[in-house]
Amino acid sequence: MKELFKQIPSVDQILSKKEIKDLIDKFGYPLVKDSVRKSIEKVRDEIKSGKLKEKIPEMVFELIPLKVEEVIKPSLKKVINGTGIIIHTNLGRAVLPESVADYIKSLSTCYSNLEYDIEKGKRGHRDSHAERLLSTFFNVEAATVVNNNAAAVMLIINTFAEGKEVVVSRGELIEIGGSFRIPEIMKKAGAKLVEVGTTNKTHLEDYANAINENTGLVLKVHPSNYRITGFTKSVPAKDIAKLCKQKGVVFAEDMGSGNIYDLSELGINDEPTVKESVNAGIDLISFSGDKLLGCVQAGIIIGKKEYIGRIRKNHLLRALRVDKITYAAIEKHMELLLREKYHEIPVYNMIFKQAEAIRKEIEEFISGFKLENSELEIVETSSKIGGGTTPEREIGSFALTFNLNKSPEEIEQYFRSREIPVIGRIKGERFLIDFRTILKKDIPILKNYVSQLLSH
Ligand SMILES: *Cc1c(COP(=O)(O)O)cnc(C)c1O
Repeated sequence: MKELFKQIPSVDQILSKKEIKDLIDKFGYPLVKDSVRKSIEKVRDEIKSGKLKEKIPEMVFELIPLKVEEVIKPSLKKVINGTGIIIHTNLGRAVLPESVADYIKSLSTCYSNLEYDIEKGKRGHRDSHAERLLSTFFNVEAATVVNNNAAAVMLIINTFAEGKEVVVSRGELIEIGGSFRIPEIMKKAGAKLVEVGTTNKTHLEDYANAINENTGLVLKVHPSNYRITGFTKSVPAKDIAKLCKQKGVVFAEDMGSGNIYDLSELGINDEPTVKESVNAGIDLISFSGDKLLGCVQAGIIIGKKEYIGRIRKNHLLRALRVDKITYAAIEKHMELLLREKYHEIPVYNMIFKQAEAIRKEIEEFISGFKLENSELEIVETSSKIGGGTTPEREIGSFALTFNLNKSPEEIEQYFRSREIPVIGRIKGERFLIDFRTILKKDIPILKNYVSQLLSH
């Protein structure tokens, strides 16, 4: 073994080699040196464990560029979503409209008036951006933007109920994937949770009885990712709003997905819209920027000017504020919505795409291949909106599937391990790629991968 260790070239020997000098030109000295050290360590380990017995210098030189690559490659990368889940939290939620992405780019490689009042020639407030567009679209007095909806909910609770009580219906004490739990958020925001009603039924009197001089806030939470069905009762928002007004208590709603569409043509009638909540007279409404709104990660808070003003005075806002990139995205996105350019919004297009159009797309995709048997097949399936929206509701769709001498697990692994990973799902004994969430620009990439799979 000692003999083997002696064959490992020294760092100086390695660094003086032409191919390593080229690597330094391209990637810089510190990174290459670090990779040299790691490669030597790895070769030592392999000699120690008895795995490596020959070609030791070659092995070191082979490893160095691989180690450089390992470090320098960003871990966040593009994937192709073949799951049919439109707002897929694991796959980055909403796909942005092209014009929004262009606008972000145009504002990110230059200076901007993020906190500068051009008219007055002095310091301005970043918080003034996006407000006009959001208020106009949602028909409210005021709006503000924070890092995400979890932050928005926390900020609302902290602003109005720190050291006080927050009244919430027991049926709305939710946990959303990724550890967003109302009771925990409440604690962190410094408020005391007061549960009213039972799991399946809450009446207006339950709210009325719970409100007292210690109440800071009444909170309604949209049960995004579950539904209680059967013998249930929840109180209409407008009745709670009226009660809160009488009692002089602030009424807020965590809407979660922030739906802005009429989804009834898809048979979905239980996903209320933001405008419905506004009309019900709720004082403050918060929702995510990257769920049904279809924009970037953000927590949007809309409502009464007086209350948004109080939120703006909360020092916690400083810790939850967003970057110019977020304001740029939201302003451009709200401009699209105000101009009714819904068809430029990918989330909208995916939700409302007809199943028949999806079937035709797959048909056309398959017709590009010379097939012997029916290696490629179209099957009926169903997509989901996702993002904790409309749980259990499925939208009819079609998927591409494979008839090959391979298990569905092998096919799944093949697509997942491509340079641009393609994520599908296994249903029954088949691997499916639902075309509802396949973007047009991804079709040539997918074609290439399918043709490689077929020629194996
Ligand atoms: C998704 C969701 C949240 C969390 O929103 P983020 O933007 O992910 O922080 C909070 N409340 C409800 C009801 C949700 O659906």
